[in-house]
Amino acid sequence: MPENISVKVEDKLFQNRYKVDEGNPHVCIAPHTVPSETLLTLVNVCPAGCYQKADDGTVEVIPDGCMECGTCRVLTAGSGDLDWNYPRGGYGIQFKFG
Ligand code: SF4
Repeated sequence: MPENISVKVEDKLFQNRYKVDEGNPHVCIAPHTVPSETLLTLVNVCPAGCYQKADDGTVEVIPDGCMECGTCRVLTAGSGDLDWNYPRGGYGIQFKFG
């Protein structure tokens, strides 16, 4: 590879496609009024930006664009904060270049 060529992560991610399974989110957050530290962490660590802090202080997830990296699943393992499943067949991320 020539030395002066750089590729931005955003440019690579733009190549991917995502098919939303309307009404069947594959990641759900347990109802809460005060988010755990782990949920707050997800706002900063999800590479797809699926987690957001809402105006009422809770954490919301919008899994559209989820890359199925599993980071949130690992961080919340055993906490009961998250219900995580792979999307149904035919839905979710479609990686163009593997
Ligand atoms: S699996 Fe990865 S990309 Fe998907 S919501 Fe969790 S942290 Fe974000």
